[in-house]
Amino acid sequence: AGPGLKVISTLSVGFDHLALDEIKKRGIRVGYTPDVLTDATAELSVALLLSAARRLPEAAEQVKRGGWTTWKPEWMCGYGLSDSTVGIIGLGRIGQAVARRLKPFGVRKFLYTGSGPKPENAAEFGAEFVPLARLAEESDFVVVTCALTPATQGMCNKDFFGRMKKTSVFVNTSRGPVVNQEDLYQALAHGQIAAAGLDVTTPEPLPTDHPLLTLKNCVILPHIGSATYATRSTMAVLAAKNLLAGLRGEPMPHELKL
Ligand code: NDP
Repeated sequence: AGPGLKVISTLSVGFDHLALDEIKKRGIRVGYTPDVLTDATAELSVALLLSAARRLPEAAEQVKRGGWTTWKPEWMCGYGLSDSTVGIIGLGRIGQAVARRLKPFGVRKFLYTGSGPKPENAAEFGAEFVPLARLAEESDFVVVTCALTPATQGMCNKDFFGRMKKTSVFVNTSRGPVVNQEDLYQALAHGQIAAAGLDVTTPEPLPTDHPLLTLKNCVILPHIGSATYATRSTMAVLAAKNLLAGLRGEPMPHELKL
């Protein structure tokens, strides 16, 4: 936009796509859209978890292709949340909203990790702060809801998936680069983990010939976390208000602290 650029308004809570150092250096103000997309993204995270754990796309495909024949006790079995341990990477706004929705499914224990314990976020769920390795080892479901930062980039890698149980399900609704996708592919292809659900990938869109798309135990969605009509509309209005306030030199409804 050239040297005249004064304000950036992003229709997202994530800001990993912004060159923050340069923005700060140029004194540009940034508006973003936290809170208003939390519920929709948490809801989608739960939908994705259940889809991957109970193999919904695979099962629906069987109905279409005539794979649904006589009743077989172990056909299309998956994993349930009842009495499970759920590990949340990043117990922020969305992470807490996911835990709040999963609790009534009968989850026995919540674990979480982050840059440090957040007792005020964790109290509602009795969630225990643990190092990443322990979260991987003990969780039946891992849900990634952290921000993409230099510290979280590639965090879910070979070592991480190697620690997970063969029966565990991995879900990522944060940002694609938090996951080492080649390592995830190997873990899924070799039965090191049971299944994965991804709303975010590297790159986006994911090329249609990507190896992950050949796996039955990987459910991939096109980054639709906040995609409800109501949420996108609210985000749009907030983004417009941020922009106008920025241009007028007024406080923005939601300004990123740089
Ligand atoms: P918050 O800022 O509330 O939460 C971010 C969380 O990331 C915090 O709990 C923080 O924990 C955690 N985090 C930061 N560093 C680390 C680390 N090193 N290890 C583990 N956790 C870490 O943001 P929101 O909950 O509102 O959003 C989270 C992310 O979700 C966004 O940044 C965005 O990328 C993604 N998102 C995806 C959407 C989609 O469509 N799929 C829609 C909306 C958001 P701590 O405080 O301990 O550092």
